[in-house]
Amino acid sequence: MKALVLHKPGQASIESVPEPLPNNGDILLKVQMVGLCGSDLNSFRGLNPLVSFPRIPGHEVSATVLQGDSTLAKGTSVALSPYSNCGECASCRRGRPNACQFNETLGVQRNGALTEFIVMPPESLYPAELPHKELCLVEPLAIGFHAVVRGRVTADDTVAVFGCGGVGLGAIAGSDSRGAKTICVDIDDDKLKLARMAGGAENINSGKESLHDRLQELTGGRGPDVVIEAVGTPATFRAAVEEVSFTGRVVYIGYAKEPVSYESRVFVQKELDVVGSRNAQPEDFRAVIRLLDARKFPVDEAVSLIVPLEEAPDALRSWSENPSRFKKILVSLE
Ligand SMILES: [Zn+2]
Ligand SMILES: [Zn+2]
Repeated sequence: MKALVLHKPGQASIESVPEPLPNNGDILLKVQMVGLCGSDLNSFRGLNPLVSFPRIPGHEVSATVLQGDSTLAKGTSVALSPYSNCGECASCRRGRPNACQFNETLGVQRNGALTEFIVMPPESLYPAELPHKELCLVEPLAIGFHAVVRGRVTADDTVAVFGCGGVGLGAIAGSDSRGAKTICVDIDDDKLKLARMAGGAENINSGKESLHDRLQELTGGRGPDVVIEAVGTPATFRAAVEEVSFTGRVVYIGYAKEPVSYESRVFVQKELDVVGSRNAQPEDFRAVIRLLDARKFPVDEAVSLIVPLEEAPDALRSWSENPSRFKKILVSLE
């Protein structure tokens, strides 16, 4: 079968690889469409420390069941959870397998879905009657939904989401679906426009206007109750704790690439809850599927390009050369 293989930084090619053999209980799937995200771009550029080469990337997946079992009929369309969990570590024992210490994500620590067929355990599959294009969006949106859960967002809250990429959009849609007033922050007007369509109530272009002044103005001088950071820079990590209200909650989804220095006083003075958010739980996947089912997400506007597998290496190259030109790229294997 054909697969996209990353051989070294900047080098991706389509080649022939052996078909997977289902282990006991695994489900054989035909991959239909795969979304590319920032972490795939980092893998392509050789900047993802968790990726070794050669590696088949791809973890945002829409597939159909080829060889099912009694619960999943052949031909069923599914989204899937690309994570694994050991069942034994502290996170797994606490019922939080999304943060398993020994997690291996498809396309990162193990080969991913940019290939014709894959096998997955049935508990990782989420059947849904949605188009393939939408099923690929389930995983990145679920990561944003999980951050909203970690921030304990309610309808009484004003939530600021820093960064309106794929994951940020999920946080915006998740926050809006809980009835919170959601403020979208980015430096790109196109992303902000899309963020409004995904459920944002207000926009701040922090490249053109003062983040602090606008947040104060929109929150009666108190600052947002919850800040969700989905950018991953030292400046936005710091701004999250500085801008959040007293006794507010800060949720970090991104990794800052460099160490971040803080004025630690704000943690204590404001008595902040600062939490990390990693991957997503099964209920986050199901909540996103309900959102898409209800046609509450601007799917067509969120996807900027669909290419066949053969053109995916070129798409990765142009994306790498011009990161701001694309929102979401999907690779079709239909
Ligand atoms: Zn992703
Ligand atoms: Zn574990």
